[in-house]
Order: sequence, then structure tokens, then C-alpha cells
Amino acid sequence: MIADKISPPTLTAGVMMETVKSTCNSAKRSPMTPKAIIHQRFGDKANYEVEEVQDLTQKGCPGLAVRQKGPCLYRCTLLLPEIVVVSDTFKKKKDAEQSAAEIAIEKLGIHQKEYNPTILEAWDDLTERLAFLFSIEFLSSPHPLSGHFRAALRRESHFNGCVPVSVIALYDTRIGNICKHINSGAESSSLLVMSLVLEAAAKQTDMVLSVEEQLSLKRRNPYPPAIIQPSIDHESSLCNGSTIEVVRIPSSRDKDVQMLKLNIAVTGYYLDVIAQELGVCEASNVLISRTIGKASSELRIYSPAPPKRHLWYHSSERDAKHHIHLEGSLNERASYFIGQFVYGDAILASIGYTWKSTDLFHEAVSLRTYYRILVNKMPNGAYKISRDALLAAKLPLAFTTRSNWRGSLPRDVLCSICRFHHVSEPVFSVQLISLDSSQDLPGSHKKMKVMETDREEESEAGVAASCGDLVGSTEAFTCEVKICTKNQELILQCSPRKAYRKQIDAIQSAALKVLSWLDIFLEKPDTPFEKLNAIAEKLDIHLSLRYFSNEFASSDSDHKCGITIAQARKLINYSCSSDVGKDEPYFVVVGGQNSGVTPSNGSLASVCYSVSLVTDGDSLKEHLESCEEFEFEFGNEAVLPDLEAAVAQMAVGQSSNFQTELVPCEFILAAAGDSAVTLSLLSSARSCKLEYNVTLLRVTEPLEERMEQALFSPPLSKQRVEFAVQHIKNVSASSLVDFGCGSGSLLDSLLLYPTSLEKIVGVDISQRSLARAARSLHTKLNSLLDAKDTSSVIKSAVLYDGSITAYDSRLHGFDIATCLEVIEHMEEKDACLFGDVVLSSFCPKILIVSTPNYEYNVILQGSTPQSQEEDPDEEKQAQSCKFRNHDHKFEWTRSQFNQWASDLAAKHNYSVAFSGVGGSADTEPGFASQIAIFKRYDDDYDHDLEAQMEFGHQYADVWEWNIEDLLSKKE
Ligand code: SAH
Ligand code: MG
Repeated sequence: MIADKISPPTLTAGVMMETVKSTCNSAKRSPMTPKAIIHQRFGDKANYEVEEVQDLTQKGCPGLAVRQKGPCLYRCTLLLPEIVVVSDTFKKKKDAEQSAAEIAIEKLGIHQKEYNPTILEAWDDLTERLAFLFSIEFLSSPHPLSGHFRAALRRESHFNGCVPVSVIALYDTRIGNICKHINSGAESSSLLVMSLVLEAAAKQTDMVLSVEEQLSLKRRNPYPPAIIQPSIDHESSLCNGSTIEVVRIPSSRDKDVQMLKLNIAVTGYYLDVIAQELGVCEASNVLISRTIGKASSELRIYSPAPPKRHLWYHSSERDAKHHIHLEGSLNERASYFIGQFVYGDAILASIGYTWKSTDLFHEAVSLRTYYRILVNKMPNGAYKISRDALLAAKLPLAFTTRSNWRGSLPRDVLCSICRFHHVSEPVFSVQLISLDSSQDLPGSHKKMKVMETDREEESEAGVAASCGDLVGSTEAFTCEVKICTKNQELILQCSPRKAYRKQIDAIQSAALKVLSWLDIFLEKPDTPFEKLNAIAEKLDIHLSLRYFSNEFASSDSDHKCGITIAQARKLINYSCSSDVGKDEPYFVVVGGQNSGVTPSNGSLASVCYSVSLVTDGDSLKEHLESCEEFEFEFGNEAVLPDLEAAVAQMAVGQSSNFQTELVPCEFILAAAGDSAVTLSLLSSARSCKLEYNVTLLRVTEPLEERMEQALFSPPLSKQRVEFAVQHIKNVSASSLVDFGCGSGSLLDSLLLYPTSLEKIVGVDISQRSLARAARSLHTKLNSLLDAKDTSSVIKSAVLYDGSITAYDSRLHGFDIATCLEVIEHMEEKDACLFGDVVLSSFCPKILIVSTPNYEYNVILQGSTPQSQEEDPDEEKQAQSCKFRNHDHKFEWTRSQFNQWASDLAAKHNYSVAFSGVGGSADTEPGFASQIAIFKRYDDDYDHDLEAQMEFGHQYADVWEWNIEDLLSKKE
């Protein structure tokens, strides 16, 4: 019946192409194109915007580097009611669109539900698809497989035109999808897909020929020479062959993983080169894994394929195992790497044909890559990598607040670890509890106590009970997390009793507990089960022994995965370490002047460090890792213990140099730039140590935020936003500039209110904060736009890098300017300078300035909230903190602030009024945050000033979002 639909290949090429195409399009049961699926679901609500891209290789993402020759590529943005996705770049517009649609389908989880054939229909589709792949048209289509087909035509005599079945099974997603409907096991077994393809090829006798004893297929009738020649010439003119670096993972554990160079000739087929290296005959004897790591990567494991005869007789992974087992020994390292069986020696390489280009893509794979992927499978390693600090960072002990967390968030790390280890995604369930009820909730209980103290303090200080913003809500959340097998059997469950004020904090905290436990298990799988269980209990984790050991720990050889994570882990960590937890007190030599500013528990310490591997007596030294600025929450074991112990002894501005025992080798090798030297040092007879050079750059006291969040409801920051919104309404402001915008908290929150604002601008001198602000504004604005949310009419948003004591004419005459909790971060004279510059040059209609009220500190510091477990240092810390935050250069009393503001207003022809948030004006000691509102006397305002002030642009552009640009692209 297939033969009826597809014209015999004796027709001329042109006709042939037409026919095959139309057959594919009209076959209703064929899997639909991504665009068709999107259309079916969203109709004309789906908007494709295609833009031309000039040079994407400049974008600095090495994994995406594409060799390109044409001047112009296309990228497509697909706007859907629910999400917006952006494709990679393509030579053809339509490929960019298909790719965007494909990403959207992936993200929305609409996996071609529409395609639901019977088994017979699926077989038909499979043979039909094969026929299409071997059609003349396909040879020139932009599909990763077509590169293989063209390369196959360059193979020498006997193998000429032979395309490995493994390649067809792997690179064509439609084949994979169809096979799932023939045998559900195909989803997880590429061998099964291969055998189904071979079987389909045997049925499809017109177009495709199954090659005797080879695992490859061939077109029955040769391609017309006129078609073959140009495509080959075209490719050979592009590159002259190259050497690529790959990694060999021997199946024998006695042999080291090592670097290898492969010579890929233009005239050959790269899989033949890999085959040779693996000691098998030719390309079709090579088994290829799915991609490892990022979806965009081409990193795969190549290993010897089982002989053809073994493919025919199995229908599940389990059977496959028994057959292939005979052929080579299990490669445990490689198996752990990809979570599937690998037999025999394996090669890790990043090479292949992609959607992006018809050229062969490849990039070097170093030992470092190998080790980074390896450690990425452990929670601690994944976290270290997200911080790019393998030899400094450590998975923190507890989740305190979002604002203190650095690196990937626990929930995200947990999700990816679950994915790596092939169990289901974790399921979180949040529970709302009331703190008023007298349940036995340790976390909340403590908070209750704190609150009571607050109340006492309040009355002592004479604060009226009416100021209800103190002490806040009585709601809190707990969160439970479950991890199940793919078959939904419960592996473990973590149910912390501690309550959090924010749902998300409760979630992150539960995720972190699971991560901490998994980490202990994965780093030391030898730990006796009783001990693991005891640790689990402490972390509020309950293990389901049976399923846990199935997935992770058992040595039961009959199990579906044969080798468990624990077994594999044991093999890899050829640990040269290390009993890190030392008991003796630890002292380092500290150099530099003592500034007196030291980190205390809960503060954020920022350090600059470098780490080298040194041999005994320092005779040899190899640099491993360094970081200019690394920030971590102090006292939370967020860095290696020795490092934290060293920093504890330092004051801001001081440096120290110290040596520690080695950490497990895989972390060192994942950090090392030159693996060869590092390896030789590690394996030399000399004993090695790690040498750290650390300078304490800064200490940020998060006390202020913590107080503001814990003591005020809504939090003070929210009250400041509401304050600004009120004034925006009063003057129906359309433009706003936030001086010292920090991470954009005000700009961000303004988007949540319906206001008249059309243009918002932020200025700051901290690039790090600006980057954060840009990221968050970008997502928020785009999602507002996607959601066609009409509460915001914002047309443009801009961020500038600059000091607000300097004038930039682009920000002249705005309707409203804000400067919240910023001036106290500058020297007093600069704060005064800012006042002059803003009112004399920027001339906003309204200026709102807020700063802490020094007199209020008694209240704040007398009732330091405890957000954490018992912490005897907390009291000391509160006392030693004269200002609310270590970065504050001053904090003014009410009269100091009034004086400054009144003088300033008088000088520049503004009126000024005073207000505040937190507390009240009428009761001592006034507001927690005092606010001055300056209003321009408009009659005096010189509208031409703008023109006169051609100072040029003092601020550097950091980021800009413009609705006009976005919409014009749409047209
Ligand atoms: N307004 C924000 C941030 C307050 S933190 C909020 O309310 O959340 C103070 C901010 O002022 C920091 O981001 C700091 O980088 C910034 N800052 C300090 N001195 C500055 C200067 N001279 N010019 C611009 N920004 C400054
Ligand atoms: Mg401040």
C-alpha cells in the first residue's frame, strides 16, 4: 500500500520530489509539523516574528557556536497567549519558525496528543517515513540526518551510501515518535528503535535496502549523479578536515579516562573515524547516545554496537542486556554518565550534523568537560557549578531567605538531579498554617515568641498599638516534597515542620533538605544504611527502602537498570581525600590592616580568591580556579569549611593564604584548566594540598532586610512602593526615574499596579544589581505583554549605569523621581551633591527621597527577629550594628533629615513635605523610613533648560526595553 502512494523511484527527480512531499503532507496519520500542532491549538493567536540576525557567534555562548558562511540568518520569536519562545538561528525563515514551534510544544507539554495511530498504522507511517528519508528531496533538506546521508555517499566502495541504522533511529524525532506507538519500550531503548527501523526497512522493499550483516540501510536505486556531485563539492570546499578533541572512557576501571585527538577528513564520514578508534569495523557498528547536558549540546557517548543478529530478538531493554552482555564488559563510568547501559570502551565527543547548519558541527571536549558533567550529577556539584566555584562553594546548610541565596535555587537543582537520575520530577505540596493556633510548630513557635517580645518593646517605647504594620501576619507555610520512581512509587518524602512566611521559601527549604541528604548519599554511597536513615530522619526525610534501593542502592542484578547510581558512584570517586571535618581549632595567617568590619552569621561576605594545587614543599604549583568576587551567606556552610573558618578570622580588606587537604579528585579535575598537569601532580607520589589565597572584600549586613520583612506587614519595601504609587496617581505621572534603583525592586513592583506610567528608568552604580534588575524587568515586561495585561501601559524601560551625583540630560524633567534608601549609602557630602544636582538639573516635577530614621533603630535593634535556628551571636550582632546596614555611611535623625530637605527645597524652588512608612508620624520615634516629597513650583520652571543643558550622556546604557520595537517587529 505504501508503494501506491509513493511513486516508483524511476521517475525523474523533480516529479519525485513533488510526489513525496505531497504524500507526506496529505497523510493524515503522519506526525504533524510543530507549526501545525501550534496552529491546531492556538489558531491565529500564535504570532511568529522572524528577525534577521547578523552574527550570532559573537554572543559568547561557546556551546552554540556555529560555523556559518552566509551573511544572514533568521531567528523566530513565537508569541503565544501562554508563553513566548525564541528559536535558535537558521538559514531559512521557515526552519526558524518550526524550531520556535517545537520549543513551544516542548515547553507547553503538548506532545502531539493528536497522533494516536493503531500499531498497524504506525508500521505504515514508519515505512513511509523511511521512504521519505531515502528520497532525493531529503538529501538537500535542512535536517540533521541529511548530513549523514550526504556523508554516506562519500564513504568508500563497499560502504558507499550506507547509512547507519543507529543514526536514523536517533536523529529523526518522528521515527522515534512513531516507534513509541509500535512498542512503548522504544521510548527508553534506542536498540529497540533500531530493530524496528530494520524491520520496517525489510517491509519497504521499493526504496530501501537493508545491508547484509551491517547495521545500515541504503537507497535501493542509486541517487542521480547530478544530485550527489554538487552537494559533495559544496561541502568539501568549506573545510579542510580537522582535528577534534574527544575523551575516551575505557570500560576497564583500571585505565584512566583520557584525552584523544581524532582526525576528521572532509572526504570521509566522522562516524567511521570514531568506529576505528573504538576498534570496530565501521560507522554502523557505533552506538550513539542521546545528548548529554543541555538540550542544545551535541555531546554524546559513542560505544560499540551489538552485532546485528542480537538486535532482532529483543523487545525490551532487559532482554537487550542479556544479549549484548556477551559482547563486551559493562562500562560503568559511561553508564553512570548517561544513565543507560554502555558496553565496551566509549568515546565522549561533541560532533554531529545539526538543524542549524549543513556543515558538520564539532567542538573540543576536554577532561574538564567530562568531570564537570560528572559532578553535575551530584547536588553539591550541581550547585558548585551554578556558582562557577568548584573549589569554594558548597551546598548551604539551610535556606534562609531568597535574598541571601546565591547560585541555582534548591528546587531547580533538585529537579535537574531527578532528571539526571531518571526518577520523576519532585512534587511539592504547600500547606498554609495559622501561627495563632497552638500547634507544636518549632519554626513558628519561635516567631511567636519574637513577636511577643516585639509587642512589649513597642509599649515600652510608647508606640501606639494602632500601628498595625509592626509584627505582621499570622500566616505561614510549610512544604512537603515527594520523589517517586517513573512508575510513581514513592522513593522518599521530606516533610519539614518548620514554617515560612513565604510559600516559596518553604518550598526551597524542603528541596534543600532533600538535596543535602542525596548529596551525602551520592558522595559516599558506602555509608551504612542505618546511618543514612538516621541522617534522613534529622532532615525530616522518610525513605521507602524498597524503591530507594531499587533506584539508587541495590546490587540486585535482575533490576531493570542493573547498575544503580550508588554502585556507579563508588567506581568514579577514586577519592584522594580527605577528612574535611577537622576538630582542632583552625587558624590562618591574616595580612593587611584590620578595618574592624567582620562578617557575622547571616551577613553576606564577598571575597576574592584563587586556588592552586601545590606539592609538598611548594615546589610545584598549578593554578586551578579563581574568582574576582564571590559572595556567600556567612555562617551557613555555603563554602568549604576551611574557607569559612579562614574568612571568620578576617576583616574587610584583609587577605590570607592557607593550605587545606584535597577535596575529591573529580572536583579538582572539573576546575582544572590543564587536566594533564593536574592529573600528573595528583598521581605523582608527592602529597598534594590545595592552597587558597583569599581577600575579604565586603560584608553586607542583611539585618536591615530581615528586620523589614519580619517586623512590618506589608514589608517596608512594599509600603515604599505603595507610597510612590500614590504620588504617581496624584500627578498622573507618565515618566519615572528611580535613582539608585538597585536590583529594581521598585521598578519591578510598579509593574504590578495599574498606573499611568509609560516610561520607567533606573540608575545605579552597581553593575551586578543592574544586571539583576535587567533580567527581572525583562521577564516581567515580556510576560505582561504576552498576557496582554492592560493594567500596565509601560512603553519603555531603561537602565543606566552611572553615579546619581552626575547629570545626564536624557533624564531631564521627568514627572516623578524616586531615590529610596540610597542617600545613606553615599558619603554625606555626596548625598548633598545629589540633592543639588537632582533639583537644579534633572528638575523632576516630584522627587521622593527615603532614608532610615536613625531614631527608630532602638526599636529595630531591640527586637532582632530570629529567622534561623538558635543563634547566640545574633544579640551581639545587633548591638554592634550601629546603623541598620554595614554599607550605610550615615543615618539621620528626623531633625537632620528635615534640615537637609528644607534647605535643599528652598534653594531650588521646590516645596517639601514629610512623611514616612513603618510606624507613624505622631508617635515616638516617628516612621521607620522617613520620606521627603519635593514638588517643583511649576511657574518658575524653565522649560528651555532641557535644550540648554547639553551635557551629553553621562550614564552608560545597560539595558532597554521598548514596546514599539517589539510591536514593529511583529508587523
Ligand atoms: N532603591 C533600591 C536600592 C537601595 S540599596 C531599593 O529601595 O531597594 C542602595 C543602592 O544605591 C545600591 O544599589 C547602590 O548601588 C546604589 N548607590 C549607592 N551610591 C550610588 C551612586 N552614587 N549612584 C548610583 N547609585 C548608587
Ligand atoms: Mg539602605
